Amino acid sequence: MPGLVRTVRTPEFAGLTFHEVRAKTALNRVPDASPMPFRWTINPYRGCSHQCVYCFARATHRYLDFDAGDDFDRQLVVKVNAPDVVRAEVGRRSWRRELVALGTNTDPYQRAEGRYALMPGIIRALGESATPISILTKGTLLRRDLPLLSEAAEHVAVDIAMSIAVFDDELQAAVEPGTPSTEARLATVRQAVERGFRVTVFLMPIMPWLTDSPEQLEHAVERIAASGATRVVFGALHLRPGAKEWFLAWIAREHPELEAGYRRFYDRSSSAPAAYRRQLGARLRPLLRRHGLDPRDDEDQPEVRRAARVAAAETLAPSPQPTLF
Ligand code: SF4
Repeated sequence: MPGLVRTVRTPEFAGLTFHEVRAKTALNRVPDASPMPFRWTINPYRGCSHQCVYCFARATHRYLDFDAGDDFDRQLVVKVNAPDVVRAEVGRRSWRRELVALGTNTDPYQRAEGRYALMPGIIRALGESATPISILTKGTLLRRDLPLLSEAAEHVAVDIAMSIAVFDDELQAAVEPGTPSTEARLATVRQAVERGFRVTVFLMPIMPWLTDSPEQLEHAVERIAASGATRVVFGALHLRPGAKEWFLAWIAREHPELEAGYRRFYDRSSSAPAAYRRQLGARLRPLLRRHGLDPRDDEDQPEVRRAARVAAAETLAPSPQPTLF
């Protein structure tokens, strides 16, 4: 593994292996051909201990000779020098202070961040260089950095989004076994709102027959509204290669009664059928408006498409250099 410093296992993170690397670069440039409005991402970690069964980034783990399943969840690459590298990169005279997105591929506030604390240095480097920041996470460790993000927000735009897909505790523990609870994530949204941030909740992926009934959606939207979030981005489950095999195996094991339906939806496509997505939008938009939430779906939401394209581009053309990711 290029740049490998050491490989670490510790009792506090049982089951996880950290491969500490010294990265040559940390800012990842989004391909020029992409229509995305931002050009830069940072992913201090590769692999993600949040272990979401549906995770779209799974295939990006393959080129390291890891697999997209268990290795993605447990063999984590940590760019231990990411804050220093970011500081050097954004300190260059050529740096144009374009928006940098964190959390577009793997979660910057996954459990490893409790050990390595890379985000404070990254946030400081971006804020002090007047670089706008966008963070998408499922991690409640975000709370630790809210004071820093508030400081940065005095000088630059700081956009915070929390991803919360499942509002049933049992299902959440099964499908996202490494994530903080839904309640803890809602509490994190509340804290960010109290600090003056306008927080977006990503209510996605919505999983057919598992989280999409009118009652489930109503319950989800009520709780999001009560957290003080401003806006909701929603979207049906996408299953790209890598995630698809892993998710369909999970469905066959945990919900065999749904396997035929999922195969009908996803065998030939990464997306749920258009009619299903339309129906979901027709169900959710009025509900969100009724609760005072600005509704966006991933069909018309540039940053979701952006994130998806970044992941897709990186999946299709993985760099031989892990440091570029
Ligand atoms: S938190 Fe995001 S990056 Fe991490 S496993 Fe879940 S979907 Fe993937």
